[in-house]
Amino acid sequence: MTTRTSFETASEHLRLALPLMSRQRVPVVPHNYAVWYEYVSSGCAGLKSTIDRLLSAGEPVDEGITEQLYQQYLDPSDRSRVETAHVNVRKLIEALARSVETAGGEVSRYEQSLQECAEQLEGDVPAEELRTLVSGLIESTRQMNEGNGALARHLEESRHEAESLRRELDAVRMEAKQDPLTGLANRKGFEARVAELEASEDYADRPHCIIMADIDKFKGINDTYGHLFGDKIIKVVAKAFANLTKGKDLAARFGGEEFIVLLPDTDVQGARALAESLRAGIERGRVYNPKTGEEIRRITISLGVAGFVAGEPIDAAIARADEALYRAKEGGRNRVEVATEAPALAASA
Ligand code: GH3
Ligand code: MG
Ligand code: MG
Repeated sequence: MTTRTSFETASEHLRLALPLMSRQRVPVVPHNYAVWYEYVSSGCAGLKSTIDRLLSAGEPVDEGITEQLYQQYLDPSDRSRVETAHVNVRKLIEALARSVETAGGEVSRYEQSLQECAEQLEGDVPAEELRTLVSGLIESTRQMNEGNGALARHLEESRHEAESLRRELDAVRMEAKQDPLTGLANRKGFEARVAELEASEDYADRPHCIIMADIDKFKGINDTYGHLFGDKIIKVVAKAFANLTKGKDLAARFGGEEFIVLLPDTDVQGARALAESLRAGIERGRVYNPKTGEEIRRITISLGVAGFVAGEPIDAAIARADEALYRAKEGGRNRVEVATEAPALAASA
């Protein structure tokens, strides 16, 4: 019973909030929804009266204002509100899906049993009255089916709407950890995976590595062929990283044309070998001038490898990988350098 109430409440809030958000052109992403959810559910008096005042004055409550209201009235460090918005939408979708299935199922069962009844009657009792009765029953079934069909269609539409909302919410969550240009993890995604590794049982006893990589002479590519073409090159390089990192490994876009790879449970020799495969793979690629079709100069990357030990802040390992990368650049680019080991690593070697 409580589930039903919370579904009804959640769906009522969604039903009220969505048109308001749509009118104000506020994207339905969790933190925006959290603001409008509080508004329609009258959960926060200050927020509600501010929005009411703005609306009655004909002022916009657009994305920017919604963001301000979020900062002002809803504790931005309180992730639970955003989570609640997410859970409510999920609950709604599940309940809608159930209603659609039930509506559809009941109608067809009803129709089937009536049809069976009609066939029997027609075969055994050819009385005119009975035929009329049965035809009437079939007709009312058809009408009921149509009516329920409309309901089912309506529910189905709502379900599609809610599902696309859910996909949007999932996408927003992903986006926070994913680089939109390349689809690789971004710095935040990388940090999240490092945190996972640090919390795992393997962390203390196993060797781990990172690889930092940077595209060589990339400014020249942008200057000669344009920024958009530069973006395409970044995507191609990212793909090579994605293809060569499997299992527990994670490749991320660390900045403009810089990449980082986390290699849990991998020693420096293993990391160096992977870095070398990445380097060679990218050097092998052919890139063509989109205007003339002619092959342009080879794209290459330089890489720095660093091992790290449990307890060492990841930033220290990044700094050592960066230093190795710098040496690779200094040494002529298109090459791999390995960082001097961290003091603790050197001591345990
Ligand atoms: P080096 O071999 O020393 O790395 O030379 P470089 O020209 O690649 O120098 P650097 O790494 O310092 O410069 C990177 C350039 O990449 C600068 C910037 O204009 C460009 N860049 C950064 N982010 C992007 C991006 O997202 N797209 C494009 N097209 N270019 C970017
Ligand atoms: Mg760079
Ligand atoms: Mg570069």
